[in-house]
Amino acid sequence: MKSYPADYELSTPRSLDGALKLLHDEPGRWTPIAGGTEIMVLYGAGKLTTRKFVSIAVTELREISEDSESISIGGGCSFTQIRRHAGIQKHFPMLAQCASWTGGIANQNRGTIGGNLANASPAADSPPALFAYGAELELISARGKRRIPYEQFHLGYKKTALAPDELIETVHLPKRFDDSLRYVRKVGTRNAQAISKICVAATARIHHGRFDEIRIGMGSVAPTPLRLSATEKVLLGSDLNDAAIFEARRALTSETAPIDDIRSTAAYRTLVAGNLLEEMLRTFAAASTGAAT
Ligand SMILES: Cc1cc2nc3c(=O)[nH]c(=O)nc-3n(C[C@H](O)[C@H](O)[C@H](O)COP(=O)(O)OP(=O)(O)OC[C@H]3O[C@@H](n4cnc5c(N)ncnc54)[C@H](O)[C@@H]3O)c2cc1C
Repeated sequence: MKSYPADYELSTPRSLDGALKLLHDEPGRWTPIAGGTEIMVLYGAGKLTTRKFVSIAVTELREISEDSESISIGGGCSFTQIRRHAGIQKHFPMLAQCASWTGGIANQNRGTIGGNLANASPAADSPPALFAYGAELELISARGKRRIPYEQFHLGYKKTALAPDELIETVHLPKRFDDSLRYVRKVGTRNAQAISKICVAATARIHHGRFDEIRIGMGSVAPTPLRLSATEKVLLGSDLNDAAIFEARRALTSETAPIDDIRSTAAYRTLVAGNLLEEMLRTFAAASTGAAT
């Protein structure tokens, strides 16, 4: 155990079990630290509310495994690992793209996917792709493991399904989107080194001009990263025409609640979210009929 100024403590267990034991024995007293790219910003700003940290930079959380059905990403994998992984580039290119948008290179080397999700910023870049790809999260504690759809993870602003003694162990991605249409955009002051004003990722299947499946994830439009379930419902089974696009834009506006903040205004976000949705739907329509986009 090392001592830091102002009574900060950092425990550095060598194994995942060691970290889980500490979290379990004194629930809520220890804060996990992975890459530290969120925590060190708070430290620098004097905004840390806790003083005891347990490092979870352990090998068990830093592996990406792949089989014929899925790819499983350890919660401690960095964005550099993710964007460079051949299987992710091939089967989940939007996630590789979002990883390459997550800050600059130094940030991608340290920042982890587990930290991105647990930090629960509505503007985070990886959530939209995880909604679009139907991700599931495996949560682990000394009590055992549980697996939940990513949709059930965010409970409110900065509130997640994680218990105080739990960690995000794995992000599971099913390999069933290779033939889907896809769309991904980040709107920010710059692509990297800037938090999104709006980010969106979607997958879709269209049969005879109608949506068989559509999954849309969006960031910076609500207190949590959001799957646009109401908008998807309007689109499912409907003809992909101007009327459907109009109704989808309307559904999007009612299920989102963007805010004014330092990066943008609610009105701008609402307009851009609708424009991106429309661009996405017209791109899908053109791709499904073989027209140039
Ligand atoms: C300069 C800069 C630019 C950035 N740009 C972007 C950007 O463009 N897009 C973007 O989305 N983010 C951006 N970020 C935010 C940040 O880098 C990411 O959110 C990153 O993924 C956080 O991961 P971490 O491992 O560093 O988290 P940490 O700081 O280690 O932890 C963050 C929180 O998550 C918890 N935690 C970490 N890992 C786990 C786990 N496995 N299980 C449970 N809880 C866990 C911690 O307890 C803490 O509460 C930026 C940050 C900086 C400093």
